Amino acid sequence: MRPAAAPPSVVIVGAGFGGLWAARALSRLPVRVLLIDRRNYHTFLPLLYQVAAAEIEPEEIVCPVRSILRRSPRAEFLLAEVGHVDLGLRTVNAAGREIAYDYLVLSCGSITEYFGVPGAAEHAFPLKTLEDGITLRNHILHCFERAAREADSERRKALMTFVVIGGGATGVEFAGALAELVRRPLREDYRALDFREVRVLLLEAADSLLRGMPERLSAYARARLVSMGVDVRCSSPVHKVDRCSVHFGDGSSIATETTVWTAGVRGDASSVSSALRTSSGGRVQVLPTLQLEQHPEVYVIGDLAVPAKEGRPLPMVAPVAIQQGEAAGRNIARQISGAPVVPFKFRDHGMMVTLGRNAAVFSAGGVELRGFIAWVGWLAVHIVKLIGFRNRLFVMVNWAWDYLFFERTVRLILPGPVTPAHPEGEERARRQ
Ligand SMILES: Cc1cc2nc3c(=O)[nH]c(=O)nc-3n(C[C@H](O)[C@H](O)[C@H](O)COP(=O)(O)OP(=O)(O)OC[C@H]3O[C@@H](n4cnc5c(N)ncnc54)[C@H](O)[C@@H]3O)c2cc1C
Repeated sequence: MRPAAAPPSVVIVGAGFGGLWAARALSRLPVRVLLIDRRNYHTFLPLLYQVAAAEIEPEEIVCPVRSILRRSPRAEFLLAEVGHVDLGLRTVNAAGREIAYDYLVLSCGSITEYFGVPGAAEHAFPLKTLEDGITLRNHILHCFERAAREADSERRKALMTFVVIGGGATGVEFAGALAELVRRPLREDYRALDFREVRVLLLEAADSLLRGMPERLSAYARARLVSMGVDVRCSSPVHKVDRCSVHFGDGSSIATETTVWTAGVRGDASSVSSALRTSSGGRVQVLPTLQLEQHPEVYVIGDLAVPAKEGRPLPMVAPVAIQQGEAAGRNIARQISGAPVVPFKFRDHGMMVTLGRNAAVFSAGGVELRGFIAWVGWLAVHIVKLIGFRNRLFVMVNWAWDYLFFERTVRLILPGPVTPAHPEGEERARRQ
């Protein structure tokens, strides 16, 4: 029990976009904030594909949570995996103890959704965490090293075939960045290899890329990727993935040593509580105020949350999580002062997707931009949003270097982490 004079305590699970912005919003209030995450850093996921494509260093897209919280003296950080939340007792189990809360904010993000495609979880590379980005970069560079000494032409082609599954923003951006990596910097590194054998394929089950974008921009994105040498195949649902190939419903297949899965994400509330009501996408159903219906002291935000009744599910993107984090913070302040809580309203600033150097697409409220102007806008927005001055500076230096000299400075095969939930990763690591 909290002593009568003690300030209310708020526990936030997850130091991603939602959790971090909630902590920032609450830091101005007379409350004790405990932010818990299994990692001691915040990851700027929108640039993760550039880590995998050897464009920027992994440490440039992360920032230690403790350094972010330095200016919030009432906020503390705990490095721990939250194992269980007891909504009745109002406790969170982390680091081997029960931590009591007055208010709880759950912002645990999402996990990769494989839609039950056989073999995808075991054999495809996900792109969801910093470890995934580094593992994939190591693997791609290893493929070229192995191809350079491979005498068998079929095996060599499989090593130089890269299949990206999922034509959403991440798949499109990664396919473009990968095409640029192989066509310029790697071509100069591996002069003995025949780069006409290199293939980058982007497979999408729907009939167009970038669903949610206006048709004109989607068509532009496709044409742009094709001009960069990406083999774009829409209406191509994958039926099975195995260690060395991707299979389709008509019995055809593509031999590849690299299948990257960017086709979807889902909520995963079961890791923290089985008592939470979830939708089919694993997202927790919340009131328009972002609270749980039976527990007004609990807020669920970001990728993990979905409106319980009226209203369309919001996209699983950073601006939603950020605005919900701020809104949850403001509603907790209202609850503490006895004021009524207010529903969350999303201010949609649009969607932008980059397509290699000099091109991007942007769409917001009827405004459509494409090409160089959209690309400059994309660069500016991502630099501004990236956390930490040092990160901004180094990312800009890497981008400028790449732009001017067609050179990726971070083509390093480091002793890489292996994604624990990806046993194939361990096998790959052993083989390499
Ligand atoms: C590759 C990629 C590219 C993307 N690109 C864009 C983009 O260009 N633009 C855009 O707007 N959005 C993009 N997104 C989506 C965006 O990153 C997410 O919508 C956003 O991160 C969601 O914020 P969140 O706070 O809900 O979760 P996250 O930011 O994922 O944070 C969740 C945090 O919770 C922690 N956590 C989870 N479970 C536990 C537990 N049990 N115990 C302790 N800690 C836990 C995790 O470690 C993590 O730090 C991208 C996502 C990915 C994966």
